[in-house]
Amino acid sequence: MHPSLKNILAIQELDIKMIRLLRIKQQRLKELEQLADLRTELLAQLETKKDEIATLNAECYEHEKKIEEHEDKLKKLDAQQSSIKKIDEFNALAKEISSLERTKNAIEQSLCNLVDQRAAEEEMFNKTKQSLKDSEDSSKKLEAEILATIQEINAEGKGLKVGREELAVQADQEVLKIYERLLRNKKDRVVVPLENRGCSGCHISLTAQHENLVRKGEKLVFCEHCSRILFWTEDLVEDEAATAKRRRRRAVSAQ
Ligand SMILES: [Zn+2]
Repeated sequence: MHPSLKNILAIQELDIKMIRLLRIKQQRLKELEQLADLRTELLAQLETKKDEIATLNAECYEHEKKIEEHEDKLKKLDAQQSSIKKIDEFNALAKEISSLERTKNAIEQSLCNLVDQRAAEEEMFNKTKQSLKDSEDSSKKLEAEILATIQEINAEGKGLKVGREELAVQADQEVLKIYERLLRNKKDRVVVPLENRGCSGCHISLTAQHENLVRKGEKLVFCEHCSRILFWTEDLVEDEAATAKRRRRRAVSAQ
């Protein structure tokens, strides 16, 4: 493995953790937004229902007034009818009375429908009000939970940042720059091992010559397809084995 890569790999692990944290944070912030949106929508629905009920109230009032007017007129006509002597005048009046009664009945029917409609709207209004209250109660809990997660994420992120800064100071600055540019583009691991003779980033096979260059590790080798920096896995395995051996040795000498 190219000597600069070990440090870059450690930086990469921290960066990947940071990317994941930021993704979770964004997701949680979006959830907060959705909660607020839901509340705004319910409030708007409540306002609309309120207006609709007010309109229906006004219409009901108009209808009631008209019915009263009809009733007054009918009373007057009834009184007139009793004092009429001529049969044709009496019949004309009776016709007028029955026509008035028909219109009054129609208005009453229409009022009945309006009252039903208003009752339905009022029921909807109360239901919406209840769901607004429910959502406020549950979102308070959820909001507190989300804010706590975000705080945790911020604290963890701070720790990662400190660790990364320490590693970055020790890194080969040229390689670090290249790595950071690649990471910005891919938002994923950009220093990757060879696997089954191919790049484990894009899974496209390498030529034998290319593979040899990676194995030698004398200079940085990039995947020809996805531009990721490649390294030879055995380097890592040997490295881990050596660390384990050292640990064992230390453990033995400590006994
Ligand atoms: Zn690749």
